[in-house]
Amino acid sequence: MEELVSSEITGFISDHPGNSVPCGAGPYFDPPLVGFSYAEDPLYDQYKQVIGTFHLTPQELLPGAVSVISWILPIGSSVRATNRIQSEWPSREWSETRTHGEALNGELRRHLVTWLEGMGQRAVAPQYSPLWQELGDTPVGIASTWSERHAAYAAGLGTFSLNDGFITSRGIAHRCGSIVTDLPLAASPRTAPSHRHNCLRYRNERCGACITRCPVGAVTDEGHDKLRCREYVYSTVPHRLAEVYNVSQLGCGLCQTKVPCESMIPAGRSAES
Ligand code: SF4
Ligand code: SF4
Repeated sequence: MEELVSSEITGFISDHPGNSVPCGAGPYFDPPLVGFSYAEDPLYDQYKQVIGTFHLTPQELLPGAVSVISWILPIGSSVRATNRIQSEWPSREWSETRTHGEALNGELRRHLVTWLEGMGQRAVAPQYSPLWQELGDTPVGIASTWSERHAAYAAGLGTFSLNDGFITSRGIAHRCGSIVTDLPLAASPRTAPSHRHNCLRYRNERCGACITRCPVGAVTDEGHDKLRCREYVYSTVPHRLAEVYNVSQLGCGLCQTKVPCESMIPAGRSAES
């Protein structure tokens, strides 16, 4: 069954005619990574301490939930290349991926719910649940009631990073998503030695490339300043640029490109020290 779910996700993205950047820069996304976690995984309870009590468990989203399906949509190499040469604002192709690629990710969420229901299962996309909310003032800053990245971590798809990203075997430049369902699926193994292992900075290596890539100093040795990042990404100038690019979401992603973790887990020491 895990193979069937993975191939449904992979087929949807790889065969979708909309997986193509309008200006001809190739696909938005390369083939997805897919992983599974148990709805009763104790990690989901721990997230209530780590993120906040407002963060929902799979059971709160779907009573009777058994599994969580997570996926990573790695951003295609040609799109990443266009953002790599930027230093102040994202490239048109990156912004198109943020807007139209993410719309495709939303289509995937809806498709999977329908597909699972067609098999007689119950399923919910947390992002589209009436319980989903974004909260502006929490102990961890701006946060939502469901974190796709934390679900992806539970499914063994990668680890967190200095700039608040999520580094997978295909790197940090991606979109991600999840579905909560009552379909029984075997959990994927979590093999990383620690929750930040894939980030060089936490393996005691010199890196911090994302610190210098950020045009507004929103990434420092202390981590990611969500507010400063958000102010930059949603300020007046990006609004104007979004009009020029004809997109609703400009994005940024400068700290996810031209960095050693852009498309892979950067090589370095094997364990956090
Ligand atoms: S650029 Fe370096 S410090 Fe920043 S997230 Fe990637 S590996 Fe970590
Ligand atoms: S997304 Fe842009 S503004 Fe935000 S931390 Fe990364 S580089 Fe800085």
